[in-house]
Amino acid sequence: MPSIFTRIIAGEIPSYKIAEDANFFAFLDINPNAKGHTLVVPKKEINKLFDLDSQTYIELMQFSRRVAIALEKSILCKRIGMSVIGLEVPHVHVHLIPLNDMKDAAFESKVSLTSDEFIAIAEKIKANFI
Ligand code: 5GP
Repeated sequence: MPSIFTRIIAGEIPSYKIAEDANFFAFLDINPNAKGHTLVVPKKEINKLFDLDSQTYIELMQFSRRVAIALEKSILCKRIGMSVIGLEVPHVHVHLIPLNDMKDAAFESKVSLTSDEFIAIAEKIKANFI
């Protein structure tokens, strides 16, 4: 069965998309640690980060960096943090999280956003993505 992220990439499940190329897809996390929390996913469905072939791994980091730079221009924060967890969804994804406080990195306190807020954040990040 395809992962939920494969279904998002295919457009079967809606998402607040940030960016996409032939191999990667970036979209807002639906249950964000902080405003602008973004996931970057390889289209190839692989469970664990370090099982990626080295080229995909490097390209995932390069694509994530471009998204992180757009995020940093879009969201007021001290810096962008990066985590890879994968305990919930077994399809590699990089969490890019705007950080103001250590708690933003903790996956414990979450922020609640309306659909309009998600749309506005996604539009802003998209406009800064190069
Ligand atoms: P992890 O697998 O790294 O522990 O966490 C998976 C992340 O994916 C969580 O932060 C969760 O909020 C996010 N997530 C799970 N399902 C969906 C979904 O359907 N849409 C979006 N946008 N994010 C999701």
